[in-house]
Amino acid sequence: ARVRVMELEAVPDITFEQIGGLKEEIEEVREAVEYPLTRPEVFEDVGVEPPKGILLYGPPGTGKTLIAKAVAHNAEAEFIRMSGSELVHKFIGEGAQLVRELFTFAREHAPSIVFIDEIDAVASMRTNDGTSGSAEVQRTLMQLLAEMDGFDNRGNVRIMAATNRVDMLDPAILRPGRFDRIIEIPVPDVDSRREIFKIHTARMNLSGVSLEGLLPLTEGMTGAEIQAICREAGMRAVRRNVRKVEHADFLEAIEKVGHAEKNAPDSRM
Ligand code: ATP
Repeated sequence: ARVRVMELEAVPDITFEQIGGLKEEIEEVREAVEYPLTRPEVFEDVGVEPPKGILLYGPPGTGKTLIAKAVAHNAEAEFIRMSGSELVHKFIGEGAQLVRELFTFAREHAPSIVFIDEIDAVASMRTNDGTSGSAEVQRTLMQLLAEMDGFDNRGNVRIMAATNRVDMLDPAILRPGRFDRIIEIPVPDVDSRREIFKIHTARMNLSGVSLEGLLPLTEGMTGAEIQAICREAGMRAVRRNVRKVEHADFLEAIEKVGHAEKNAPDSRM
């Protein structure tokens, strides 16, 4: 069961070319995560410590995991992912121990990048619903803070986390020496959506599709939704038993994905 809460991906194969937009955000993450691994001597020479933990925040499906994996790819680092919500909901009573194991594991697999997804599940401010503030979750959080405090930021393990709700986080986690570099990963603007469409249609056989025409119709949609639209448009061509995807397939796909989004029972943002 532990393999699920802690997932190892030996050097992911995601590259920056597969990420649309987010150029500045990517550069910021590279400075904080990749360069300390690939050119530690620069930090030594300049006499500056790299940031300890990097927190990416933004709506679901905007590319946070993608960036973390691409950075691991570039740094030729192992990618170790832990889900904060699984840690809290599926491994009751084991949270603190698993956090300890996570850091040990990361050191054993260095150079490595630890990515804690949905960190809000572990590190939310105390709330009234009795879950996020439970003694068990508090113990898990304390262990995480202790691991970060005892961590050498010049070593070859880098720590990243992601959340959809930065406003909910316990300020203790954001203090200097913990997750002290906070980077917003926003919903894509029109230029980024164009790039994302190009990425996800690159291998599709298109006929008379105006990507430009799709851009105004997808305002506010995330990279994950655009990927879903491209897949759905392709499926429509398959269903019609034709070999080319047409503009109308995309229009219908946008309609469908847009509706699915509105009706989702748990749309968090
Ligand atoms: P969550 O908060 O739900 O974990 P996330 O921000 O980590 O979301 P990702 O897992 O990185 O989102 O993105 C999901 C999928 O959406 C990616 O595998 C990719 O196919 C697509 N996607 C998201 N953002 C982009 C982007 N900027 N460029 C290209 N594809 C993207």
